[in-house]
Amino acid sequence: MRIVVLAGGVGGARFLSGVRAWASTHQAATQQAATQQAATQQAPTPRTVVTAIVNVGDNVTMHGLRICPDLDTVMYTLGGGNDRERGWGRAGESWVVKDELAAYGGTHSWFGLGDRDLATHLVRTRMLAEGRTLSEATAELCRRWRPGIEMLPASDDHFETHVVTPEGTMHFQEWWVRHRGVPEVVRFEFDGAATATAAPGVLAAIADADLVLVGPSNPVVSIGPILAVPGVRDAITKSPARVVGVSGIIGDAPVLGMADRCLRAVGVACSAAGVGGLYGARSSGGLLDGWLVDTVDAGTTVEGLPVRAMPLWMRDDEATAAMVAAAVELAAR
Ligand code: GDP
Ligand code: CA
Repeated sequence: MRIVVLAGGVGGARFLSGVRAWASTHQAATQQAATQQAATQQAPTPRTVVTAIVNVGDNVTMHGLRICPDLDTVMYTLGGGNDRERGWGRAGESWVVKDELAAYGGTHSWFGLGDRDLATHLVRTRMLAEGRTLSEATAELCRRWRPGIEMLPASDDHFETHVVTPEGTMHFQEWWVRHRGVPEVVRFEFDGAATATAAPGVLAAIADADLVLVGPSNPVVSIGPILAVPGVRDAITKSPARVVGVSGIIGDAPVLGMADRCLRAVGVACSAAGVGGLYGARSSGGLLDGWLVDTVDAGTTVEGLPVRAMPLWMRDDEATAAMVAAAVELAAR
């Protein structure tokens, strides 16, 4: 079975951890069934393969270093090196360089660059300077972290989420981290989206998938930019794979982050129904074949879209793997 997951940072990483747990249970069950049939069948056991297509719209250059917050959050989380409380960055982090930069009155001191985290950005930036692609740099970093899934940046090309505010246009990180998401959003723009292409393997993974999962990540600034990479949305809607989405909105509020502000900016209600409607049913030109919502949103209806309600709090891998199992069931209907 081949599963493709669209993912942003913290929510995407937690979801992927549960997908990985579900996949290993599924692989073991498939293996056992194959062993029992071994006397009659010689075919190799089919593998359960998970590919994450990760948002690159948050990527930013600071102090000359290329920083990819969502890729790093996914990589650290799946590699067991993330700070669980903060949700992003490295466990056991120290901030000596950040303090030293602040002492110079640095203009980028609002962005939290930990000492351990810096090594990741140094390796990535060196590889990019040597002419390697972001995909190649990601694969190299993953040799250390062994996330247990295939991690692909949505694009290797220049692609950044910008926020148009009444005071001017700024990078997404500047809006969210520096200004705490306070400036009013006129609209989001994906800089580079006209010319960017999907990273190697992205479109093929979608075309070969049995199941595409749209994680509970922010629909506007995590999933939106992935779908804005030319070819990606098309590949999904044309794929023979079933496509199931998981709501990151529970009871009309995001579990964490700024999805409420982002949805307001694009004129979509902050609810499971609003986001389900934004993605839309594939049967009527949208993205999804199924929509998972939390039990508190059990009454949710989206035109043309089968909806299933179950607890969607990703407390641990077990709870999240149960969400994945429900998505697989919904896909099989
Ligand atoms: P970011 O890039 O770090 O902002 O992370 P994502 O975009 O991947 O994830 C943020 C989204 O994940 C938010 O909209 C949250 O509501 C959602 N989210 C976080 N934790 C949970 C959870 O336990 N359950 C559900 N259903 N959604 C969650
Ligand atoms: Ca992000």
